[in-house]
Amino acid sequence: MFSQLKPLPTDPILGLMAAFKADTNANKIDLGVGVYKDEQGNTPVLKAVKKAEEFRLANETSKSYIGLAGNLDYCQKMEELLLGNAHPALLANRVRTAQTPGGTGSLRVAAEFIKRCNDNATVWVTTPTWANHISLFEAAGLTVKEYPYYDYEKKGLLFDEMVNALSQIPAGDVVLLHACCHNPSGMDLNAEQWQTVTDIAKAQGFTVLIDIAYQGFGTSLDEDAAGLRLLASQVEELIICSSCSKNFGLYRDRIGACSIISKDASAADVSNSVLLSVVRSIYSMPPAHGADIVSTILSSSELTTMWHDELDEMRSRINEFRSLLKEKLNDKCHGMDFSFIERQHGMFSFLGINKEQIERLQKEYSIYIVGSSRVNVAGISHANIDYFADAVAEVTK
Ligand code: PMP
Repeated sequence: MFSQLKPLPTDPILGLMAAFKADTNANKIDLGVGVYKDEQGNTPVLKAVKKAEEFRLANETSKSYIGLAGNLDYCQKMEELLLGNAHPALLANRVRTAQTPGGTGSLRVAAEFIKRCNDNATVWVTTPTWANHISLFEAAGLTVKEYPYYDYEKKGLLFDEMVNALSQIPAGDVVLLHACCHNPSGMDLNAEQWQTVTDIAKAQGFTVLIDIAYQGFGTSLDEDAAGLRLLASQVEELIICSSCSKNFGLYRDRIGACSIISKDASAADVSNSVLLSVVRSIYSMPPAHGADIVSTILSSSELTTMWHDELDEMRSRINEFRSLLKEKLNDKCHGMDFSFIERQHGMFSFLGINKEQIERLQKEYSIYIVGSSRVNVAGISHANIDYFADAVAEVTK
């Protein structure tokens, strides 16, 4: 049976990671893979996480199953982190959450949930979007279509085109929005634009799915969730897929959540029964470790403060390097304007250079960037920023 299979190309980012690893140039820079890095190029375990892990090791009493929804304390803490403590949707008991294996697991659960709601739903994603969005929803048998989002020429939003496209989308379809730190463009909606999108969702009756994988990496934990909180206060139904991979640095522990907001408490119970049935049919129950770490941190004011400080440090580093990168590139690359880097949020921006220039960066300078020119700003440091900016200036001459 296996002989029927045809080999598939490796994921471009994973291929890039392997090529970077094999490169012996001491000046090599990896701006490909989407993980946070510190000044030394490491992705360390957060101190708050280490402390919570010590606590867990000393206090865990059982390895028995934790149930379909996972750790219920974690689920509640995530709802509060996403929506804020006294959000009307929480007060009205309209939110149900399942702990999931990462944000990816959450999106897959959401995809199956959508399929149960409407077998013929189309999921609309931004052009461009995180590549895995498309394969995830298609793998669940859903149709995926795109709506205009990023303006590659002006390095901003195609907001009028986006509004036009969303205004044609019918009830029964799903529109995926990135809550903050849009991957791959770094270009986010402002408060007024969130309101416009909310008004269109209400008028059209489509369902919004918010993917929030970088809460706290843009402006602040609260600001980064402002758009989703606005939507949640004005629409009847909402799906939220969240991830703790980046903001808690728990990438490999695979911890996320899928939250469904329904029109009232009894509809929420029905949604929850379907949500849990979906979970049962995919992986039965989520792994316990990451959820215990997050709930331990969020249950302790001391650990929460420690985590906030560490998250602030990660965000400040990213934002510092957005400004520095803009300055250096504008200084060294004559006739080019990189000021958009400072206006965008999170780890990613498109440099806006072409394939040939990207290839030269890799071949001649050992600088690894994905083919779309998306760079992970967190891969830049005081030690390599001049080397990087000089290389970009050279290949764009
Ligand atoms: N959504 C977006 C937009 C992402 O960039 C990512 C991670 N790259 C995820 C979801 C999923 O993250 P994870 O499964 O690692 O938690």
